[in-house]
Amino acid sequence: MHYEGPIYRPPVEADTPLLQVTVGCAHNKCTYCSMYKDVCFRMEKLDQIEEDIKEIRSTYRRVERVFLVNGDAFVLKADYLKDIALKIKEYIPECNTITMYASIQNVKAKTDEELRELRSLGINELYVGIESGVEEVISNINKGHTVQEAREQLERLNKANIAHRALLMLGVAGKGHGEENAKATAKFLNETKPDLVWVGTLGVFEGTKMYEEIQEGTFVEATEIENLMELKTLINNIELQNVPFYGVHTTNVVPVLGMLPRDKEKMLQTIDTGIKNLGEEALSKTFKRGGRM
Ligand code: SF4
Repeated sequence: MHYEGPIYRPPVEADTPLLQVTVGCAHNKCTYCSMYKDVCFRMEKLDQIEEDIKEIRSTYRRVERVFLVNGDAFVLKADYLKDIALKIKEYIPECNTITMYASIQNVKAKTDEELRELRSLGINELYVGIESGVEEVISNINKGHTVQEAREQLERLNKANIAHRALLMLGVAGKGHGEENAKATAKFLNETKPDLVWVGTLGVFEGTKMYEEIQEGTFVEATEIENLMELKTLINNIELQNVPFYGVHTTNVVPVLGMLPRDKEKMLQTIDTGIKNLGEEALSKTFKRGGRM
């Protein structure tokens, strides 16, 4: 397989073959993100992608899903994504889901007809970085879209029958804003209806814009106890039916995993037990993190 630069994929895709179609991230401007800071964005050539598809075919007997890397692979033009999907179908006919990271702007750049066509070729699930449902927060972190745009574009995905998995980040609103952020984000999720909710926690790394903001005092990190209370409020306010809530990541102090609404109480209890075991004093700080952000 040809891999270049850092490769990231959602934890739930740990068993999915990764097919590199882009290098880096075309946006590369989120203030907290250090993942592709030193990587120049470019797309991979179709003949190289085809070679890798053949290798996936020869490595695995059965492939249900393929994950296209990298940071916002859905940035590729619809025609190019169609070519890639057709190649996957040619060599791996049993593959029923082609998925990848997508930004709201990537969705906006495609017509309804293109979305429907991509869906018909197996691109039926996308991981979308939502992070927060608060306009000011989204603007501060330079996510590249507004909350209203996100609502509209996710609605377009839903109409095209392309499921989306919402990626969120605890602590992104900063100290003192976790509660309001959680309520607004839960409301946003209830409206936009993701088929999975994934939650990580903000980690701030040297070299990022957010790191500078902390040095300047224009952004103050939430403490761990605030992050956990934010997580509780988020879970409490989500009203989605039969949606997996995936709060397991190296950045999360207390991992939680369950199906909503069935496991709501169980997950809330897990957080309370975690707070009790770790102690509020230890959680009154912000831990240094080394995971993906
Ligand atoms: S968070 Fe995602 S969209 Fe933002 S710069 Fe990093 S890889 Fe790109």
